[in-house]
Amino acid sequence: MGLLKRPLSLASGRIVLDGQEIQDAPPAEMRRLRGKRVGMIFQEPMTALNPLSPVGRQIAEMFVLHEDAGWSEAMDRAEEALRQVRVPSPERRIRDYPHQLSGGMRQRVMVAIALACSPELLIADEPTTALDVTVQAEIIDLMAELCAAKGTAILMISHDLGLVANMCRRVAVMYAGRIVEAQPAEAIFANPQHPYTQGLVDSLPRLGERARRGQQRLREIAGVVPSIQAYPAGCRFNPRCLRATDVCLSVPPEITSLSADGPMQAFVRCHHHG
Ligand code: SF4
Repeated sequence: MGLLKRPLSLASGRIVLDGQEIQDAPPAEMRRLRGKRVGMIFQEPMTALNPLSPVGRQIAEMFVLHEDAGWSEAMDRAEEALRQVRVPSPERRIRDYPHQLSGGMRQRVMVAIALACSPELLIADEPTTALDVTVQAEIIDLMAELCAAKGTAILMISHDLGLVANMCRRVAVMYAGRIVEAQPAEAIFANPQHPYTQGLVDSLPRLGERARRGQQRLREIAGVVPSIQAYPAGCRFNPRCLRATDVCLSVPPEITSLSADGPMQAFVRCHHHG
């Protein structure tokens, strides 16, 4: 999204949006793209929204910036957008400031802003972490429903594997700054290939066999994520991996493809996967 300033740079790879490479797009191009073609929802709406501006105006800005609407038309459309995300009494709420809304309502406002211009892609970064469980489910349902209606793809970033299993068709697991495995969602939960993914799936609480036998204790992955300043040589997961051998201590694993190339391409980055 180009929100982080240089000298941060892309070490390798490309960022492609619908066939267009955007990693080197100039700032003006990125401004046109942000909000219009790519919407974003952050995890904490209280810090993502402007505390000094009424929420209606923050939604209306999208129409003024990207669709050449005048402010009066934009405010009407903002009220409609609030109605779409099911904020009660939108004609009144449009004048509220973020601190006057509950956490759930603030996140609904974020959804309204992110989807105002019907973007091609919505990036949802831990969209429900700051909310309680019942509100989480409402926001996720709302996001999925509106994105389906608008034809918007969702790229979701989450620690919540239950949510990922419900929402996602393709899953990429990251460890220490690298994608270590990517597979269609069903495959990754049924047949994880990387020891880290296997540890994550294994640590999920389960009703059933284990609970019936009274084994209530959750499994954990021993150790901690390494500091970004001191990644270990070889595979970055090696200090925590029960399957590590000598080669893992010195040779970073390359990507091994698990399927034919395609949009649902599956791969793993491990010397001893499976
Ligand atoms: S490469 Fe080696 S250390 Fe890394 S995840 Fe695979 S087995 Fe474990």
